[in-house]
Amino acid sequence: MKFGSPASWARLATGLCLALTAAACGSSAESGGETTASRAPQPPVAQQPAVLPGRAAEQEDSAQRSGVHRLLTERQQAELAQAWGLPSLPLAAPPAPARKVALSAGPHVTLAGDDLPALVRRVPTDDRVVFLTVDDGKEKDPRFNRMMRELGLPFSAFVSGYLARSDYGYFRDLNAQGVRVNNHTVNHKDLRKLNYAQQQAEICGQQDELEREIGVRPVLFRPPYGEYTTDTLRAARSCGITAVPMWNEEAFPDRMEYRQLDRRLHPGDIILTHFRGTEDWSGSMTDMARQVLRTVTEQGFALARLDDYLG
Ligand SMILES: [Zn+2]
Repeated sequence: MKFGSPASWARLATGLCLALTAAACGSSAESGGETTASRAPQPPVAQQPAVLPGRAAEQEDSAQRSGVHRLLTERQQAELAQAWGLPSLPLAAPPAPARKVALSAGPHVTLAGDDLPALVRRVPTDDRVVFLTVDDGKEKDPRFNRMMRELGLPFSAFVSGYLARSDYGYFRDLNAQGVRVNNHTVNHKDLRKLNYAQQQAEICGQQDELEREIGVRPVLFRPPYGEYTTDTLRAARSCGITAVPMWNEEAFPDRMEYRQLDRRLHPGDIILTHFRGTEDWSGSMTDMARQVLRTVTEQGFALARLDDYLG
């Protein structure tokens, strides 16, 4: 490995982090308890990595674990940020909660029926975190994956089969780097116009497709256009969906759009964006990521992994 360039340091950091336990890298640890009193975003000394719990455990090495926090000097951090066009490294999220959050009905959570999946526009948490969710799957930009991996930033994908199918390998790679690949239906139809059986085919068919192509059967589902009926929730429940995350903000390469009038992020907000590129946008997915990271960091938030809080 050639040392000295930000990219090489980033590769080293990523490689080391991936080789560590999830807890050592400050990421989701199913068995790890929430022990710290402070859950404010941490200074960017060691960034949270993408999560690979199974593989990480196999490759655990205590010597590497103790070294990762000292890995990057301030100068190297600055170089890494600069390499990705950022003024500074994003804030690292606090440890993931030991348990998924309990959901009760409120202004940002809708419970349409007793055991139906909850609709969530904002995750109830006091952590200074927000969640990035990337939908559809038309653009498959490996540079975006690399940026998020090198910066140790989590996000969640919501994939529609008819768009992903041209290259499921891209989403398998995402899954391998710790990004949960969730359900966004087979054909991205307006579900309000479909009957129950058709909706079930759209949602449960995508569960089957994700299981076949990627080996995952997610518990999070987002309906296309955010449109749904009670049948949608019943159909989703029938094939294992437990929560339906909506969004409060939408990110583009050149702007953020807010659904709330105060035009601010709030703890637990869900940011929507898309796997799109210059065919549809005025910039690339990495431009979009810079827009998100600038906004999130300026407002004192860190990106955390939605799947660690919800499901
Ligand atoms: Zn969509």
